[in-house]
Amino acid sequence: MKRVLITGAAGFLGSHLCDRFIKEGCHVIAMDNLITGNLKNIEHLFKLKEFEFYHHDVSKYIHIPGELDYIMHFASPASPIDYLKIPIQTLKVSSLGTHNCLGLAKAKGARMLIASTSEVYGDPLVHPQTEEYWGNVNPIGPRGVYDEAKRFQEAITMAYHRYHGVETRIVRIFNTYGPRMRLNDGRVLPAFIGQALRGEDLTVFGNGSQTRSFCYVDDLVEGIYRLLLSDYAEPVNIGNPDEITISQFAEEIIKLTGTTQKVIYKDLPVDDPMQRQPNIDKARSILNWEPKVNRAEGLKITYDYFKSLPDEELYKKEHNTFEGYIKK
Ligand code: UDP
Repeated sequence: MKRVLITGAAGFLGSHLCDRFIKEGCHVIAMDNLITGNLKNIEHLFKLKEFEFYHHDVSKYIHIPGELDYIMHFASPASPIDYLKIPIQTLKVSSLGTHNCLGLAKAKGARMLIASTSEVYGDPLVHPQTEEYWGNVNPIGPRGVYDEAKRFQEAITMAYHRYHGVETRIVRIFNTYGPRMRLNDGRVLPAFIGQALRGEDLTVFGNGSQTRSFCYVDDLVEGIYRLLLSDYAEPVNIGNPDEITISQFAEEIIKLTGTTQKVIYKDLPVDDPMQRQPNIDKARSILNWEPKVNRAEGLKITYDYFKSLPDEELYKKEHNTFEGYIKK
């Protein structure tokens, strides 16, 4: 039985990975400091003997008894609002946290996969983004704490691979959505659906011409799993190339939810990337992977999930503060 450590296990992606590795017959060691994660996402696994949970911050020294085959480092805040609220933790988890995980991987002879991001491309000048593109990142802007930590994470991972011979994998994750996203984390999809459910207008930032390409979580997890099992150490984009403007996206959510509210326009946050679309040629050729779930199907499942949450979740105010993050 393979033993896998998943950091950020109580988060959106981490919890889906826990499910996948349990399904694959692995022993899952889940770790989370619960700053942005939620135990509800994994509580159904606690009864399993092949599942254990450590309440621990990976930025601090990690001790895991016994053998380890895989480490999946998915701990990190992942929404621009979160980076604003907890910038130091955001920097630490992908720098110190990655260093600790790599040290553990080296000590245990484990293979390690890190969750990198399309944010390493910044506000990209190459479109769609290929893995060869080095990016256009503002190191000192509000997103810098995330973008630069993720870039450092890739660098130290390649260094451990080259210098220590650790088996490493790097996935660059593009915008992903699905059940267990945090309803109030400020990201566009939960923001729009939450607004529709509360009967509020949908807030489009800027003029809404910026683009994103949204991947359904099951597709992403499949791509990540294939990458882990591959022998490819360089970064691979995983995402859905189906690109859409944020205005069009708001219209889709209005249709999906049947809300009678309208779109209102707000200021564009600083350094908000104008376009984002993955080139997935590498994933196609190396992993024989491409997304299968189209946006209509994925959004329906995600909407049903958000609808099923208790009202207190819907009305929990944990953000709504883009202050200091708006272009003056
Ligand atoms: N956005 C928006 N309204 C919102 C939240 C986000 O128009 O209520 C925009 C945001 O400015 C960005 C896009 O939606 O252009 C995606 O934002 P998100 O925070 O989901 O993720 P990002 O891809 O920017 O990291």
